[in-house]
Amino acid sequence: MRILLHRADGKTEPWIKDFAKYLPEAEVEIWHAGEKCQACDYAVVWAPPEAMQADLAQVKAIFVTGAGVDALLKFSDALPPHIPIIRLEDAGMALQMAEYVTYSVLRYFRRFDEYETQARAGQWLPLPQHPKEDFAVGVLGMGVLGTRVLEALAPFGFPLRGWSRTEKSMQGVQCFHGADGLDTFLRGSRVLVCMLPLTPDTNNLLNRTNMCKLPQGSYLINVARGAHVAEPDLLALIKSGHIAAATLDVFRNEPLPTQHPFWQEPRITITPHISALTLRRESVQQIAEKIRKTAKGETVAGVVDRNRGY
Ligand code: NDP
Repeated sequence: MRILLHRADGKTEPWIKDFAKYLPEAEVEIWHAGEKCQACDYAVVWAPPEAMQADLAQVKAIFVTGAGVDALLKFSDALPPHIPIIRLEDAGMALQMAEYVTYSVLRYFRRFDEYETQARAGQWLPLPQHPKEDFAVGVLGMGVLGTRVLEALAPFGFPLRGWSRTEKSMQGVQCFHGADGLDTFLRGSRVLVCMLPLTPDTNNLLNRTNMCKLPQGSYLINVARGAHVAEPDLLALIKSGHIAAATLDVFRNEPLPTQHPFWQEPRITITPHISALTLRRESVQQIAEKIRKTAKGETVAGVVDRNRGY
């Protein structure tokens, strides 16, 4: 069995070692631009370069080393439809997301962002607590990661809301779905957490019209993809005070350009796309298991529906 591996960072050695450990029957070939590669059975990629399309079109299945597949689906038309695209499910990312989002929600609820500013100015000033009943947390996307985040938030007693494409039920969470459910969902979410896949339906979802539906003084936490947010709209709504503050892990252009106005806005907290990192060992273990099943003709979970876009 041969696996074609592409790593944009060029750090392939640790991946080769982990594949040797968890899938010793496989030979791993590294994809290099301009070099002809031998026929491979499976590909393991995240955001492959355009020049890799022809080689990807030859494999039996493509495994993505991330939960989101938007960077690969850009080439969807060049990939024959019979080739399954299989994403990572959790693989250690859900706990990281739960940590990141819980921290961010508590930081805003307990007003630590404001205390940080006050402390830098040498100001000792206790602020009134936010009433918890006014601090509903709404999670866009109730998939593998969104559900784990809602579970992590449950013990703190915030009113919890979730929005998905299809109808869901989750204990302790007020569930909304579809385009019809979005308006009511947004109007009641004081903290909006974006955990959606990036698809044609969700691109630019957080635009002025939708963000204006949030209550005055809301908070945004975006840990999904930069293209979910209309960046100038967010900036304008923060300046007007409609959105009190935002924590952003993802951006339309990454790394965030040095001249980007977000850097100058103190109410925006920026992290460099680290909310849930791909953990190599967990990822290779999961991919190895799915490759073995695929090779035996068994069905595996995490197969992307190309029409839906996730
Ligand atoms: P899942 O596929 O498990 O869940 C996606 C959820 O979004 C589902 O609940 C789905 O609804 C919902 N959804 C999709 N399209 C729509 C729509 N049009 N309207 C309403 N709801 C919709 O994905 P994961 O939870 O594993 O991952 C979510 C995203 O998180 C990834 O796609 C990626 O973009 C991002 N991510 C970011 C990382 C980072 O470091 N910043 C790391 C890992 C992931 P339904 O349940 O009805 O299908």
